[in-house]
Formats: sequence, structure tokens, C-alpha cells
Amino acid sequence: MTAGLYASRAKLDTILLDSVGCGGQSVITDWIDNYPGFPEGSSGYDLAANMEKQARRFNLAVVLEEATSIERQPDGFTVSTPANTYHTKTVIIAAGATHKKMDVPGELDLTGKGVSYCATCDGPFFRDKEVALVGGGDSAIQEAIFLTRFVKSVTVIHRRDSLRAAKILQDKAFANPKIKFIWDSVVTAVRGNDQATAVALKNVRTDAVSELPVSGIFVFIGLVPNTAFLSGLVACDKQGYIVTDDAMATAIPGIFACGDIRVKLLRQVVTAAGDGATAAVAAQHYLESLS
Ligand SMILES: Cc1cc2nc3c(=O)[nH]c(=O)nc-3n(C[C@H](O)[C@H](O)[C@H](O)COP(=O)(O)OP(=O)(O)OC[C@H]3O[C@@H](n4cnc5c(N)ncnc54)[C@H](O)[C@@H]3O)c2cc1C
Repeated sequence: MTAGLYASRAKLDTILLDSVGCGGQSVITDWIDNYPGFPEGSSGYDLAANMEKQARRFNLAVVLEEATSIERQPDGFTVSTPANTYHTKTVIIAAGATHKKMDVPGELDLTGKGVSYCATCDGPFFRDKEVALVGGGDSAIQEAIFLTRFVKSVTVIHRRDSLRAAKILQDKAFANPKIKFIWDSVVTAVRGNDQATAVALKNVRTDAVSELPVSGIFVFIGLVPNTAFLSGLVACDKQGYIVTDDAMATAIPGIFACGDIRVKLLRQVVTAAGDGATAAVAAQHYLESLS
């Protein structure tokens, strides 16, 4: 949205394509405490809605279509969606990332029936229930704290013996009586027929197996970049993140990438916004270089 804001404000003829609507991961984040300019923080939903409103003020055209391919043409690129083909001189890829799955038996079948990747969306369905949460990074611990508003208890299952999350989040989690921890353990299966009833666990140090009865399993074990639709068009690292230079340029002149989808140290709203601004200005310079 920041790339769209900068590009439309610079009066470039810009279309923002999004398959589901503006906001991306921010929309499913309960509270964003670290985006500058909001002394008390902001709900992810409000922050995203305000960004969209601001970009639309400069007449950014938002089109709800999924980009299914980008192809090089002699005079630019075509971006295809199931409904349309757009001809363009430059493309900024800001397709972000999606939650990683555990890839264990029962996970897929019970998604939406106890297995969730979004505490903000599904937390209220687990009022006074016991739930498990898998992960140990910032998002995992932030969402564990959020879930305690609704649930009776949340058991954090982490494959290591310490958390990766920021110290401030760790302190909050350890002080919260509703949050328990199972260390050095991974989920090997989700049990249940129509609804999840338990997770099977394995201790990675001792190989001991156990079961934890829970009504819900929230999974926050990292991200996968949304690069599949590019079919190898741009260079990516081993994890699939797009390689760019400091100006967000990919190896293909005219294609830029910004935000969580690219190789970078920190995947946050503030860095995505910074990348988006840089990508739009770099795209503008690229267009100027063509004329
Ligand atoms: C639970 C959780 C908590 C978080 N907490 C914080 C926090 O407290 N502070 C913070 O700064 N960051 C936080 N983050 C991270 C932050 O949300 C991301 O870094 C940021 O949203 C990245 O923005 P982005 O625009 O690069 O990608 P995304 O937010 O992933 O947006 C990508 C957009 O592209 C669209 N898209 C994908 N593929 C296509 C396609 N083929 N065609 C069309 N559209 C497509 C998607 O629908 C989506 O709207 C959190 C993330 C999660 C999941």
C-alpha cells in the first residue's frame, strides 16, 4: 500500500492488485505496538484501513484480482489475473508471505475445525477453552498473549528450550498465569474427527511421546514467501524470498520487489512501508530512464 501511495501520489498510472483486499498480514494482527507515530499502538485492522484510505486519496486504483503470472514483453510486462491481462512498463511485487504449515497428519483436515493460523480471526471461538500454540518467535508470543483474553489457558509448544521472541514479549508471557510452556517439543499429529481434540507431541531431546488435550491449535512457525505465481521469473534465495538491491530492483530491469516477499533482515510493517516507498521511487526513476 505504501508503494501504491507513493506511485499514485507521483501521478504514475498505477493499479494495486490484491487477491483478497488491502491490508495483508496486518489485518489479521490484533495490535501493532511498534509502528512509529502511534504512541499507544494501533489495531492492525485500523492501521491497514488508514493506509488504504490514504492511498485512495491519491486515486490509487485497487483491483481485487489475484496475479497469476507476470510475463516479459518487448515493451514491458503483462500481468495476468483470472479476469484480465494488464500491460505495464514496470511491476512492483509486494505479495508478502503466508503462514507455514506443520505438515503433520490431521492438520489440513482440521483446519477451521480447531486448527488456526490467525488468533485475531479465531481466538473468540475458543472462549474458556484450553488451546495450544505452536511457535516461539515474536508473532507466536504476541498472539499467545492476545489469546489469553478469551481462552482458559494457552500452552506454547516450542521446539527449543528458549524463545526467539523479543525480551519484552517474553517477560509479558512468563508473567501471564494463563500461558504455560512445553519446551523442546514438536507436534507430530493433530487428533480429532470433526473437531480437533488433542495434539500428539514428541520431545526432540528424549523422543518421549505424549498427548495434550486441547480444543484449538494455533500455528505460528514462520512464513513462506508468496512467490509461486512468479514461476522462477526473478531470482530468489533458498527459502524462496526475492533477491533485490537497496533500490528494491530485482535482476530483471523494470521489476521491483518490496516487503516480506524479499530477502531482508526484518519483516515488519515499518520495513515493508519503507521498502514500498523506495520501490515506487525506483520504479519512477526507471520509467523516466525509458523516455
Ligand atoms: C500474527 C502476526 C503478527 C504480526 N505482528 C506485527 C507487529 O506487531 N508489528 C509489525 O510491524 N509487523 C507485524 N507482523 C508482520 C507484518 O504484518 C508484515 O511484516 C507486513 O504485513 C508485511 O507487509 P507486506 O505488504 O510485505 O506483505 P503482506 O502483509 O503479506 O501483504 C501481501 C498482500 O499481497 C496479497 N497477495 C499475495 N499474493 C498475491 C497475488 N498473487 N496476487 C494479488 N495479491 C496477492 C495478499 O493478499 C496480501 O494482501 C505480524 C505478522 C503476523 C502474521
